[in-house]
Amino acid sequence: MQKKTYQFALKKVTYYFDADYSQLSKIADKSNAIVITDENIFKCYSKKLAGWKTIVINSGEGFKKQSTVDSIIAQLIGFEADRKTMLIGMGGGVVTDITGYVAAIYMRGIKFGFVPTSVLAMVDAAIGGKNGIDVGVYKNMVGTIRQPEFLLYDISLLKTLPETEWINGFAEIIKHACIRDAKLFKELEKNKIGFYQTNKTALSKLIRTNAVIKSEIVRKDEFENGERKLLNFGHTIGHAIENVYDLPHGQAISIGMVAACILSEQFSNFKDTGRIITLLSKYGLPTLAEFNAKKAFEVLKMDKKKDQQKLNYVLLNKIGEGFVKAIPIDQLEKLIHSIVRAR
Ligand code: ADP
Ligand code: ZN
Repeated sequence: MQKKTYQFALKKVTYYFDADYSQLSKIADKSNAIVITDENIFKCYSKKLAGWKTIVINSGEGFKKQSTVDSIIAQLIGFEADRKTMLIGMGGGVVTDITGYVAAIYMRGIKFGFVPTSVLAMVDAAIGGKNGIDVGVYKNMVGTIRQPEFLLYDISLLKTLPETEWINGFAEIIKHACIRDAKLFKELEKNKIGFYQTNKTALSKLIRTNAVIKSEIVRKDEFENGERKLLNFGHTIGHAIENVYDLPHGQAISIGMVAACILSEQFSNFKDTGRIITLLSKYGLPTLAEFNAKKAFEVLKMDKKKDQQKLNYVLLNKIGEGFVKAIPIDQLEKLIHSIVRAR
């Protein structure tokens, strides 16, 4: 197990890399902690969870909503959870988001930690303290920015992760490479998912590299005044189509990243759209989609990155270097229509 700490504005977060799940009982006090997980993970790991108070939620993004929060709170009251109780979110991004959010509001805020079990949660969702829920088609419309106490990484938990979820997670890994790390991009070009699934050392290194990329960006700009916006690469159109078309997050942002590449060509010297499309396809992600530009735009107008009548759009100068460009909403609307038509 390797311990690393990151000092954020209000909290020092401990990351336990190359850890084993069983070490959780050393990190958290079993007698005053409650594990929140989902039905799939509970089925796979009920033995490991023996002896822990557990709340099991329905799985899937569709349940990342207020009614699930209400049900968790009712169960916390049932367990007589108090301000000293620690919540532990063990699961994918849905579980970590909802756990962090409930922890922020229950009794005006209690401690929480995460055991991410999906690639996506390990490299992205569990990191950075943004935790929240969806409201209808609007992704992460309600939430908080508040850091966990710890993150415990046990990559052996990925053995049971379905293939489609591996692909989802790699969309965020490719995103990190695009905005920040050309070397990582080249590594990904050389390999494929199967390589990481069968090579524990490479997987562990990949997860850690990506956890570090995200953590460094967040540490410098926790409350998203600048650099953190880069992490939204592919997410503007991605979020606009994800819930409208009920797409897996990775697929939605893959399509969004390609759209952002095409826009980049208009605002910078970017010329590598083809290389990015090839990489996304290699990792099983879609790059072309027919979507209703008008419908997508209706959702996009509510994007949290909107500032007055401009939207902060993440574009690329080159592979490994993202930048933020404020694009007027009406210009963006025309551009998006033209991208969709051009296909
Ligand atoms: P994400 O991590 O992609 O944000 P979810 O929390 O919805 O989203 O997780 C994706 C799906 O993968 C869910 O159905 C969840 O139950 C399942 N899942 C997550 N981790 C594991 C795991 N280690 N083993 C089996 N299924 C898992
Ligand atoms: Zn994402």
